[in-house]
Amino acid sequence: MAAWIIFTIGLLSIWQVGCIHAREWVAPAMALYLIHRLANDPDARQELDGVDWYILPVVNPDGYEYTRTSRSNRLWRKTRSKNNLLGCFGVDGNRNYGFKWAVSGVSSNPCDTETYAGPKPFSEVETVMVRNIMMENSKRLKLYVSLHSYGQYLVYPWGYTGDYLPKEWKKLDSLAREVSDAVQRAGGKPFKVLSAGKWYPAAGGSDDFAFGVVGVPYSYTMELTDGYEFIYPERLLRVVLPQFYEGFKAFAGQIRKEFSPKFTEQRYRMNECENC
Ligand SMILES: [Zn+2]
Repeated sequence: MAAWIIFTIGLLSIWQVGCIHAREWVAPAMALYLIHRLANDPDARQELDGVDWYILPVVNPDGYEYTRTSRSNRLWRKTRSKNNLLGCFGVDGNRNYGFKWAVSGVSSNPCDTETYAGPKPFSEVETVMVRNIMMENSKRLKLYVSLHSYGQYLVYPWGYTGDYLPKEWKKLDSLAREVSDAVQRAGGKPFKVLSAGKWYPAAGGSDDFAFGVVGVPYSYTMELTDGYEFIYPERLLRVVLPQFYEGFKAFAGQIRKEFSPKFTEQRYRMNECENC
């Protein structure tokens, strides 16, 4: 089952999704920790104020469950839809979005266990569901973060190409570096910040769709943790998740500062008072 937590105050929204890639278990752990802190930490009032957080810890529940069934299935990545007569299963959910679909970094072989893009864009119920929520909230969405596990990267559009960047890339890059600095100040390792396509081009990702079609001004893929690839040790979560949380606070701070009418109004009043 996918779980939802929706915070309903204010007019803006921030959305994080985790675990489109079944084997990347640190992603739902991060999402749940974020929910835990936002719901229980009295200091989180600042993070909640003026911003709605939408958090979907497990986008690909069938794949996630499959990785839990046996040791040999632990590294399954795709969804679990049955897609042809060969009896192969699944589509790479992060190659299945309908923006520049399949132009780079994908496989067209349904039996490819890694990057099969699907028979058509949005062939999977998982990606359709995420797309629909994004479109329903398109005017309010200001930040989208897709959580993954491989290396310590914080990457932004475009993912489908490394040849050029969106014209807004400096803003995307600058906020990513602020987030990385915040994690580092909390004792964590800095993120490697660059466009996803310069890391490696791969089309059909949710971050490109959010940015290029939905119009979300800040869109990222966050690759959590370094050194353990897809099997991050559970015992280290209590160390790294609070460090990453500081990064999410930096995200929220920027969104509030840039888009919240309440914050802008307060700043305006403060400026007025300087002249009193
Ligand atoms: Zn992934």
